[in-house]
Amino acid sequence: MKLTSIKGMHDVGPPEIGLWHHVEKTARQVLEAAFFSELRTPVLEEEALFTRGLGNTTEVVEKEMYAFADRDEKRLALRPEGTASIVRSFIEHFATPGGSHRRFYYMGPMFRRERPQKGRYRQFHQIGAEVFESTHPYTDAELIHLADEIFRRLNIQGVKLQLNSLGCKSCRPIFKENLLQFLKPLAATLCADCQRRLEHNPLRVIDCKKEVCIAATQAAPSALDFLCGDCSVHFEGVQQGLKAFSTPYTINPRMVRGLDYYERTAFEFLSGELGAQNAVAGGGRYDDLVKELGGPAICGVGFAIGLERLVSLVSTSPINFKSPLKIYFAGLGEEARVRLLPIMLVLRREGFCVLSAFDAQTFKAMLRQADRLNADETVIVGEDELKQGVAQIKNMKTGEQKNVSLNTLVDYFKGSLLSSTQS
Ligand code: AMP
Repeated sequence: MKLTSIKGMHDVGPPEIGLWHHVEKTARQVLEAAFFSELRTPVLEEEALFTRGLGNTTEVVEKEMYAFADRDEKRLALRPEGTASIVRSFIEHFATPGGSHRRFYYMGPMFRRERPQKGRYRQFHQIGAEVFESTHPYTDAELIHLADEIFRRLNIQGVKLQLNSLGCKSCRPIFKENLLQFLKPLAATLCADCQRRLEHNPLRVIDCKKEVCIAATQAAPSALDFLCGDCSVHFEGVQQGLKAFSTPYTINPRMVRGLDYYERTAFEFLSGELGAQNAVAGGGRYDDLVKELGGPAICGVGFAIGLERLVSLVSTSPINFKSPLKIYFAGLGEEARVRLLPIMLVLRREGFCVLSAFDAQTFKAMLRQADRLNADETVIVGEDELKQGVAQIKNMKTGEQKNVSLNTLVDYFKGSLLSSTQS
């Protein structure tokens, strides 16, 4: 029997993994510079965390969650998203009054049993950030700016931010009721999914992407028309904050998020480069979630970026991403090899990617291997070079060769790196 990976779940290896590392490193830099600490939570949690946190009737929980009974019958679930786990961990370890940790980020796999297609997988990865205990609208704006900053640092063009406010516990029910009254007479014209959504989740009907539903809901009431005074002030504040952070946005009153816990601010980053699955990130404010999951009354706001989609945008952007210079050491004979080893180790510590030929017996075999490994430069040292204290450096792309003293080899590569980053 041939064993393969599960449908919708993928291995990520070379050469693509280099892009993943680049993206992950950039996100860490952006978030850590803004006082965020990484928080790693298990991929398995109690199922109740998600049914209570995300809402029993959300599509993610109802149709897509990998949930099962453990050997002791306890109900467990593979996390379908990151926020509920971070909130659970926050309550467990950090939520004490006056605690010093209020800003967290995470990256890792999430699991949803969706129909796999380009940009939509059953195991996918997210980079997310959450801020607790700040009610200020500038916190929402800062968080949105940080997601945008990650795109900027990665040189990704054309990602557009859409913003909305979903209201709060006091004004949303009024909007929901009005929306329902508007939608009920149109029920027969909606898609099958939306006919079901009418029962549990009418808000989702207005952001359904199917033509029939878009047409039917053209004149639907907007959440923004029902915002209470506090929600209006908050929404205004978020917009002022976005201007202060120089983050362009458009308001989309039809954008609602798929999970129940969002209140007030909701946002999505969309890209025209991604095809049908065009959302690269999403997030919003969740002021009651900590309390609903058994913690104190502490509010929160967060975002999650889809890593697969982000990586695919980076791979098509005219980019800044440079993998480290790959240097292959071709030392012929024991003496040459021993002379070269300490130099190799220094170069590795300096951040170069360095490999030596131990098995190949001839220069020809070594150069063939260097070629196969996609090396940028090969350092060739045989008996003659050893006597003269030099190495022949061969540029594997141009074929150009030059002699460099063994004593200055490290400086030579450091210098060439400098000139290549300046060019
Ligand atoms: P959500 O938690 O649904 O708001 O998702 C946040 C981001 O994660 C989305 O904007 C996507 O970029 C990504 N994402 C969500 N679901 C999937 C999936 N099944 N496959 C790949 N990426 C996904």
